[in-house]
Amino acid sequence: MNLPTFTYHPAPLATGALQLSPNTCIVCQQARGYIYVGPVYAVEEYEACICPWCIADGSAHHRLGATFIDEDSIGPDASLDDAVITELSQRTPGFAGWQQEQWLAHCDDACEFIGKVGHAELLALGSEAIRAVQASTGLQDGPRWDVFFAALHKDRGPTAYLFKCRHCSALDAYQDTH
Ligand SMILES: [Zn+2]
Ligand SMILES: [Zn+2]
Repeated sequence: MNLPTFTYHPAPLATGALQLSPNTCIVCQQARGYIYVGPVYAVEEYEACICPWCIADGSAHHRLGATFIDEDSIGPDASLDDAVITELSQRTPGFAGWQQEQWLAHCDDACEFIGKVGHAELLALGSEAIRAVQASTGLQDGPRWDVFFAALHKDRGPTAYLFKCRHCSALDAYQDTH
């Protein structure tokens, strides 16, 4: 079965938001082979028990009162349509950062989340991705940036979070640490 498509989170397996799993979904009561392992904002705790289909069609939101991306984290400095905020918070897999997450926006729309990246991933992605992260730090080329760049790690802080504009394809990023 093909995974549902998430407009703002196009590769949720690659980012680690979804995993192959035998777990049964608490919403549809089916074990569909994949489970969501990202953050769930709800009264109850729901850990690794919601399938991606129940996120995509809104049923997990409606049945559990859950959201998956904190509304306050979305496009902090942009004004986005309510429909975009709703799709993100209620029907899109989220990700967990070290600090309050930010879901970046560009061209008056929320961006696609590409994933968490560290030094190795950025080297593989190339100069535009590296520049996006560097710009988010405010550091100029030099030893301070070199030290920070070398320390960036996907699974240990400091970690960078890479996004791509759905309209102009620009890469954007932010970074945080413990
Ligand atoms: Zn389900
Ligand atoms: Zn753009």
